[in-house]
Amino acid sequence: MRRPLVAGNWKMHGTRASVAELIKGLRHLALPGGVEVAVFPPCLYVTQVMVGLEGKSIAVGAQNCAVEPVQGALTGEIAPSQLADAGCGMVLVGHSERRLILGESDEMVSRKFAAAQSCGLLPVLCVGETREQREAGKTLEVVARQLGSVIEELGVGAFAQAVIAYEPVWAIGTGLTASSDQAQEVHAAIRAQLTAENADVARGVRILYGGSVKAANAAELFRMPDIDGGLVGGASLNADEFGAICRAAG
Ligand code: PEP
Repeated sequence: MRRPLVAGNWKMHGTRASVAELIKGLRHLALPGGVEVAVFPPCLYVTQVMVGLEGKSIAVGAQNCAVEPVQGALTGEIAPSQLADAGCGMVLVGHSERRLILGESDEMVSRKFAAAQSCGLLPVLCVGETREQREAGKTLEVVARQLGSVIEELGVGAFAQAVIAYEPVWAIGTGLTASSDQAQEVHAAIRAQLTAENADVARGVRILYGGSVKAANAAELFRMPDIDGGLVGGASLNADEFGAICRAAG
């Protein structure tokens, strides 16, 4: 009953020329009808991608948004209302690269989540533990804290219009992938945490796995009962590979 979602996070990659090539590749893909597909290019290229993918059922989202919903004096940031105005329907919040490299706190992530929703965007909340936290046996505690901070601020009902992405930091861009059992354990814990507050919301929310997903491992991950698709970084920069991942979710 949950429609799988496969989302490509292009991170800080691309030029106008390479984005044009990627659009061309994406336009040629045969995509499974039952799977929702989205790409998250750097903001600068959102309009180019949106125009380039017109008529193709691939949604376009942004990788980040401001903590304030509407335009104003916040140099360098992009308001969720501006993303909505540009045609974006989704936005990533709390990606580990922003939490760890740019110091985004749980509180900032919650504010971004709320700001995005107030503008009609679907937030994709990224959560996940570092290698040190996993080795210290703290995986479930860390993920529960990251998720709990949004629940505390906004209430569990906020997840009726949101997506969660579990992305173990040690698996992002490293070529290491969580095994399907390791991923399922965390996905099930996330769903149980939501179930404790609201079983309907928990049943409906899509929880994506992210961390070195590729065509070769996607089917195995997507087969797990609480994995509802993927957030794909590196492999989403190759249209054919991304297409194969999308088909694995179908
Ligand atoms: C990501 O950036 O969200 C990600 C999962 O990256 P990769 O697939 O390259 O590990």
